[in-house]
Amino acid sequence: MSQPNIPFPQSPVLPTMVEGTHVIQFSCHKGIGCWNACCSNIDISLTPYDVLRMKSRLGISSTEFLKEYTVPYEMEKDSIAGVKLRSVEGGTACRFMKPEGCGIYEDRPTACRYYPVALLSMRRQDEYVDRDSYAIVKEDHCKGHEVNRRITISDYRKEQGLEEYDELARGWRQLVLKKQSSGPSIGKPTLRSRQLFFMACYDIDRFREFVDAESFNRLFELPQAEKDALLADDVALLQFAFRFLRQVLFGEESIALNAEAAQVRLTKVQEKRLVEEHEAAKRMAEDDEGGFAEDD
Ligand code: SF4
Ligand code: SF4
Repeated sequence: MSQPNIPFPQSPVLPTMVEGTHVIQFSCHKGIGCWNACCSNIDISLTPYDVLRMKSRLGISSTEFLKEYTVPYEMEKDSIAGVKLRSVEGGTACRFMKPEGCGIYEDRPTACRYYPVALLSMRRQDEYVDRDSYAIVKEDHCKGHEVNRRITISDYRKEQGLEEYDELARGWRQLVLKKQSSGPSIGKPTLRSRQLFFMACYDIDRFREFVDAESFNRLFELPQAEKDALLADDVALLQFAFRFLRQVLFGEESIALNAEAAQVRLTKVQEKRLVEEHEAAKRMAEDDEGGFAEDD
């Protein structure tokens, strides 16, 4: 099961972008000649909600899950990272593949649910909201396209439980799109930002410890009842993680800083501005000197 991205480097078929009303002809069922062919050769990126569902299914921590079942990859050079499902040792098959089908079917990842459709989230420079389009993936080995069942992509998403999956990963998609569309003016994220992004998005159990730690308390003013509720609920904590990252990475403040931390932050901003003004004045002075020298 190859997971398409734009552009589709390996796919022999160029994708056509379609809307949710588009009708596909497809059905996948046990007994079909290609049963499990898609799970024998995987390239599956996971969303944070996929990680959360799978680690809960396996009854392990997110830290253990990431180490054991995933490989990280860079979404762009020196930028934020994603995680992919790790295949079997020395092979390309999914570790959850069983002769009878997916061994974690109820908690299978988003990409597996979508196949043979791919979600393409996009954000135009002039738009605040992201919008979804879809692409159809046709691979020779998949016989599901030959089965005479017609269904709209919207209904297929409902059938595959994707409305919940997409909704709970939307905050992450928005962060990724925002990072990718922010361009060079924002600059490369620092190592610390990249680490925070990784932890908050994928390693929810470490993020829980981070939110529960004294250092977090010193910086942010989160009412205790709200904090307790977050710490007790993975899904709520994940949505808070996206909110936290919007604040840390893009300055969209929605979590109150405590007064002392706010003052320290203000002082730092003022100091940074002073340094920038000083450097700008120095550059202007140097340019003027250069200009005088040329005139002489
Ligand atoms: S998670 Fe399940 S559906 Fe997805 S590739 Fe693995 S076995 Fe197949
Ligand atoms: S029909 Fe396609 S999706 Fe279903 S088992 Fe075959 S290759 Fe996989």
